[in-house]
Amino acid sequence: MQATDDDLRWMSLALRESREAHARGDWPTGAVLVKDRQLLASGQNRQNSRGDVTVHAETDALRAAFAEHGPDYLALRLRWGGDRVAAAGD
Ligand SMILES: [Zn+2]
Repeated sequence: MQATDDDLRWMSLALRESREAHARGDWPTGAVLVKDRQLLASGQNRQNSRGDVTVHAETDALRAAFAEHGPDYLALRLRWGGDRVAAAGD
């Protein structure tokens, strides 16, 4: 499978999130949640800074998406497919 320009753009953003996490003292991982070529949310690993082992980049992105769009909206969007989650190094 060939990476598209969009794939590279989203992975670049996930990597930027991972660098921010690392600079803060967390594991260097980032994630983006994308639907229809639109960014729903991004996230970073926050396990060390929050003292919570569940705060992976993916869960952080999901929490941010819920906070921004609401659980009903996100559940509906995810349910109908076509979503992509890009995680860098997690
Ligand atoms: Zn993870």
